Amino acid sequence: MYDEYAESGKLANYLQQLGGYLDSYLEFDHPDAMENEAQWREVLNQKIPEKGVGIDQVITELGQTVIPNGSQIPRPGCTSFITTGASTIGVLAGLASSVSAPQRIGIHAFNLLEEISLTWLTDLFGLNPEMKGVYCSGGSVANLLALGAARQWAFEKRGIDPAENGVTLPCRLYATDVSHRTIHRAAAVLGLGRNAVVSIATDAQGRMKPEALEQQLKEDKENNAVPVAIVATAGITSTGAIDLLAPLAKIARANDIWFHVDGAYGLPGILDPHVEAQYQGLEYADSVIVDPHKWLGAPVGIGTTFIRDRSLLNRAFAQGESDYLEGSCIEDDIQNSMDSMGIPYHDFGVELSSPSRGAVVWALIREIGIEGMRERVCRHNAMARQVAKRAEAHPQLEVLQEPTLSICCFRYVSDRWQDQDKLNRMIHRQLVHNGQNIPSTAIVNGQLAIRPCFIGARTGWHLADDLVDEVISIGQQFDKAYMEKSHQP
Ligand SMILES: *Cc1c(COP(=O)(O)O)cnc(C)c1O
Repeated sequence: MYDEYAESGKLANYLQQLGGYLDSYLEFDHPDAMENEAQWREVLNQKIPEKGVGIDQVITELGQTVIPNGSQIPRPGCTSFITTGASTIGVLAGLASSVSAPQRIGIHAFNLLEEISLTWLTDLFGLNPEMKGVYCSGGSVANLLALGAARQWAFEKRGIDPAENGVTLPCRLYATDVSHRTIHRAAAVLGLGRNAVVSIATDAQGRMKPEALEQQLKEDKENNAVPVAIVATAGITSTGAIDLLAPLAKIARANDIWFHVDGAYGLPGILDPHVEAQYQGLEYADSVIVDPHKWLGAPVGIGTTFIRDRSLLNRAFAQGESDYLEGSCIEDDIQNSMDSMGIPYHDFGVELSSPSRGAVVWALIREIGIEGMRERVCRHNAMARQVAKRAEAHPQLEVLQEPTLSICCFRYVSDRWQDQDKLNRMIHRQLVHNGQNIPSTAIVNGQLAIRPCFIGARTGWHLADDLVDEVISIGQQFDKAYMEKSHQP
């Protein structure tokens, strides 16, 4: 009797059934989740069951109530978030990992694929081949790990181990107003404090001004603070601009300060020959991050930190001995996958238990190769340029910032409206409600822009024109409605 709930289900039939539900979700001919809100809330809002309903019923509920009322993010025309719907092989490889290597530790194919795929990523993005990586849940943690290593390095130079003794001196982290806010959070978590983040002035494209950085460093020489890192962004989240990596790297070198490049979104842009030159200086980075769950089409939950000296991550984050693991491995006579932890990734970051993410990245690259990745990145960048080209040619559109990568910040202009920001906010609301082309908005030099970020593996070329056409059509409807209102007797 005690075996009644011992799992023995076979996956294949259920996967077939679930796959059908998921494929029909990806057709996107269902309404937005909010249209049936009352109904699915009522079905799902139930007390915890004493007796289960069985797997068939759960799959039916997933398929009929949960999946059809999911998020708009995987929609090909949804360009608002940088995280996106996973590609097919990404989903499948994630599933394979969760079944056959629920942990990355041990000596098995998945542990090896962590390292192989990390090396492939350094090749793919032309990183310094000395760099070694570690996977984590996403850019937030990837930045935390990189800056943890920077903190370790900066304090060790002063004879202090911050992992053991804490942050005993005031610190500085050099970033900008458009640096991702996860940099500030990392500063808080690492004990530097959010106030340690100094915002360096930026140019009209939001890029850190090297001369302003130099000036600030000169002023800071007077005080006793520890300069932990200079944080550059390769692919600013709001506009896609790339910091001037080469001069910033040079300043970092000259001042013996850690140089971190946040490429969570934009690192894959280096594959596009149009923009490759803008990554010059990347080879001097002490740490670089990239999110496979953004441009590479991995399911959400995969970020990567690359670092020149991985032993720093170990000194900053090693877990230390644990009684319950003592004697579990016999590192001197390894004959079984359980005899060793394999490459000890859990000592290079903040997660012990962790999915095997490397197999997913391996599968993504294996499927379409460097060529396929480059084709996607080039297509997305070209889509942003297509939006810009259309906007420049149209009398009622303007480009607020020329695209660098796959983001184009543009807007509708009408001399009938005093407040162009308000007009564009209304246009954006209408786009979201229409539910076909769903960009976000961004503030660019004080002006509200409509901001598509083309990034999804399923995002096709025509969607650039579709978005522009829809913005024009909504803008003209608002203009017409305004005219009719103002001509009423
Ligand atoms: C998305 C992003 C992050 C945060 O990454 P998550 O994966 O969402 O945690 C950090 N930096 C930049 C530049 C980003 O675009």
